[in-house]
Amino acid sequence: PLPIADVIRAGSPVFIGSREALAARYPEVYRAAAGNHYGAVSAVMPLLVEGRAIGALAFSWDQPREIDEEAHLYRLLLAQHCAQALARAQLFETERRAREEAERLRERAAFLADASALLAASTEFGPTLESLARLAVPRFADWCTIDLAAEVATLPTMVAHADPAKVALAAEWSRRYPPRDEPSGPRHVLRTGRSQLYPLISDEMLVREARDADHLQILRDLHMRSVMIVPLNARGRTLGVITFIAAESGMHYGGEELAVAEDLADRAALAIDNARLLAEARQAAQARDDFLTTASHELRNPLNALQLVLLSLHRGALHRPEQCTPAWLDDKLGKAETQLDRLIELVEKLLDVSRLSGGGLPLAPEPLDLVELARQAVERHRHQAGGEQLRLGGDAEVRGEWDRVRLDQVIANLLTNAIKYGEGQPIDVEVRDRGDRALLVVQDRGIGIAPELQERIFERFARGTSERRFAGFGLGLWIARRAVDAFGGRISVESSPGAGARFEVELPKQSPASRQDAEGEGRGGG
Ligand code: ADP
Repeated sequence: PLPIADVIRAGSPVFIGSREALAARYPEVYRAAAGNHYGAVSAVMPLLVEGRAIGALAFSWDQPREIDEEAHLYRLLLAQHCAQALARAQLFETERRAREEAERLRERAAFLADASALLAASTEFGPTLESLARLAVPRFADWCTIDLAAEVATLPTMVAHADPAKVALAAEWSRRYPPRDEPSGPRHVLRTGRSQLYPLISDEMLVREARDADHLQILRDLHMRSVMIVPLNARGRTLGVITFIAAESGMHYGGEELAVAEDLADRAALAIDNARLLAEARQAAQARDDFLTTASHELRNPLNALQLVLLSLHRGALHRPEQCTPAWLDDKLGKAETQLDRLIELVEKLLDVSRLSGGGLPLAPEPLDLVELARQAVERHRHQAGGEQLRLGGDAEVRGEWDRVRLDQVIANLLTNAIKYGEGQPIDVEVRDRGDRALLVVQDRGIGIAPELQERIFERFARGTSERRFAGFGLGLWIARRAVDAFGGRISVESSPGAGARFEVELPKQSPASRQDAEGEGRGGG
């Protein structure tokens, strides 16, 4: 019950000409004023905008008054002007806000469009993501950082801020305070694949996050206001996270900003995924092309040789039957067989590639003597090596449980290489008993292998040399390693260029399957 409230409610003026009139109409106001006469006499005018009172304008005096028609009208007009001015200001404010909002939306759309263009044009995601982080600053964030999952790429966190000096500082901070696995932050989002939004960063939050006093100071000096962490999700996997931090610019993040950030992250994730698939496809295509080229060369050589031998046999039979002595035939057929062996070996390797690429390596372990197996392999390769170049040494017997075909293949691949790259120098094969393990060494004195290649030569299609005289598929060592892995052993090389190579294969004597059985029994008994 106040004059001003009545005026606003009813939208019509109120005039109180004396203290008595106030006491009669608003007794509570009169009592509350308790002897304070000032303001008892008043005229209150509504501020009308489109028939609705948005406020009131009050005049008051300390002496009683009669109502004066002309003055009353004047006060009404004054109130009307005030109301209109207020309405105009209000309208202006609303318009300004709408304009700002439209501008913000336009900026955001432009940001997304720029980002999309950037992402669409990229085939390499590292540089693209750095540009993306820079694009977000300062339009959408004061700080933008991107982390990728280790399986995607081992890149350090990408950091963007308008001030390069701060970017350098950030690198220093993350060295001093490396990210931890906490229930908040990029690591967590990387694991869960779900966004986190912190609309308001409070000082308590900083105190909770800080690891020591220095850290707290750094966090406080950042003046963070809002933070969003969004996952880079593509095809059901989280490839990384983008963190947006609103700080000194005074920006704030809410649901709307989070939607934009997630939209952006989805596009970025798709681009990363595509770039990755493209790179993989290119690599695979390149490896396949290289392989087909070498494979056709490799098959061509023994075929040519075989063709020549057969031709000369055919000619001999037709035109010079007297030449076809048993010794001559033996020589020709021996050569044909050698080439045929080579062809079979090559085709076997090709078959192995498709078998190994298709999945695991089935093993059929049986009791074997590695020394005997090595001896047979050495005998088979003797003519290839030329006489007495191949020497077998070590223990007299080393028994174990292995897959004969696979193990034979490992030895054969090492021997073929030692002969191929051995420059005609002696080759030593050694088999040794090492308790529950067996050791096989193949040592040559040939061209050797540069240190930087020593790990790579075990990869598929990897070749250490492109010299024509050393034609090859780059598969032998890959196949050997796959087999040794399947046995639960390891294969390694020691070499220096020009000083030959020493390949060592270490094998558990028991097959992986029976080892597991034995362990199972051991546990059962214990
Ligand atoms: P390939 O011999 O068909 O090229 P491998 O997988 O058997 O394929 O060998 C891969 C590479 O390792 C070879 O290209 C060669 O450069 C190198 N290499 C293998 N064995 C030896 C060795 N005993 N001496 C020198 N280099 C070798």
